[in-house]
Amino acid sequence: MANGSYNPYENAQAQFDRVANILGLDDATKSLLRQPMKEYHFTIPVKMDDGSTKVFNGYRIQHNDARGPAKGGIRFHPQETVDTIRALSMWMTWKCAVVDIPLGGGKGGIICDPRNLTENEQERLCRGWVRKLAKDVGPFSDVPAPDVMTNGKHMLWMLDEFEQIHGGRYPGFITGKPVGMGGSLGRTEATGYGLIYTVREALKNLGMKIENTSASIQGFGNVAQYAAKLYTELGGTVVAVSCWDNTDKKAYTFAKKSGLDIAALFSMTDSFGSIDKDKARDMGIEILPEGAWLEQEVDILMPSALENQITLENVDKISKQVLLIAEGANGPINTDADEKLRKNGMFVIPDFLANAGGVTCSYFEQVQSNMNYYWEKEEVLHKLDYQMTTSFKAVKETADKNKLYMRDAAYVISINRVAQAVKMRGWV
Ligand code: GLU
Repeated sequence: MANGSYNPYENAQAQFDRVANILGLDDATKSLLRQPMKEYHFTIPVKMDDGSTKVFNGYRIQHNDARGPAKGGIRFHPQETVDTIRALSMWMTWKCAVVDIPLGGGKGGIICDPRNLTENEQERLCRGWVRKLAKDVGPFSDVPAPDVMTNGKHMLWMLDEFEQIHGGRYPGFITGKPVGMGGSLGRTEATGYGLIYTVREALKNLGMKIENTSASIQGFGNVAQYAAKLYTELGGTVVAVSCWDNTDKKAYTFAKKSGLDIAALFSMTDSFGSIDKDKARDMGIEILPEGAWLEQEVDILMPSALENQITLENVDKISKQVLLIAEGANGPINTDADEKLRKNGMFVIPDFLANAGGVTCSYFEQVQSNMNYYWEKEEVLHKLDYQMTTSFKAVKETADKNKLYMRDAAYVISINRVAQAVKMRGWV
């Protein structure tokens, strides 16, 4: 969300400009890649259960499709803004390019709070979004997926609407579908697992054994949950997670020095990632203020909730013990805080590499959907691990060779790949 003076689109453009200048990109390529190629803004009237009609604002923004169909999630959030979606669509282009999958970048959203909508209202909203875009998205042009507060159920309603309109079965239109309905095994786990594959590789670089490390995670939605699961399975200790409490309308940190039991936490978490405070207290978990997740004395921080969470106001509260920050969310560190971390020599695994596991598995899902032939879970996760590990190593090698911050190194790889694609197509 763009809050206060923070604008994620300006942040995304500043990051791009910095590396475009390092690379000496020509003006036409710069101007093509520093903004989205196409934007759709529209209204979605929805009949509410009480008989009234409410009008929602919906968006789809396609940043670039030179390397393949635009790809990226659809977010439901009350504070959603066009600039946030623009930034996120750009990050999707770089994300697909850094893991070298043949897809471009897009992002969509609806300004709404699904926590206050019934199932039927959510279904009508999903169908309304597709009706407005049915001609402009599709398996060969733009392939949506879940994102903040959307899931497989929403994807299936959207797929069904698309198929009703086009008269056929097009499972490759959308990813993140439920397993058995065109979804891929492993897709639910993919973003969180992918994050941990990169953390595992980074720890090898730092000469640390994962079983001797501890972590604090911001968020307990899909990404954070599966990151916590795999990290603890590999021997790490999660000492804190934070999450939004929809009753109190604020976030809390749930902490336990000896380590949280992630499976037990799962069982007391609702579908939006909110943990039941009473049940947590019964298990000896401390309930601390929202910002406490950042101040924990741990080796690894994984901001895996929303953008603009680490800023100049709180960056100095990070413990000296922290050696690694893995960005599970998109854009969790703002530009100023990032500058400080860069100067302090912090090892940061940048968002569009760290959380690329989701879209990588979406790509696998699309391949399976288009073939109508589905792989075993082990095969999916093996391919995911391979893709994340090789991409991490390529970024680290570029960073070491050119003495670059990991974020800049990842950008160098991505921007080069996309710039080459637009050149080869003769667009510039
Ligand atoms: N929403 C996820 C992301 O930001 C996944 C996108 C996708 O699977 O297309 O990477």
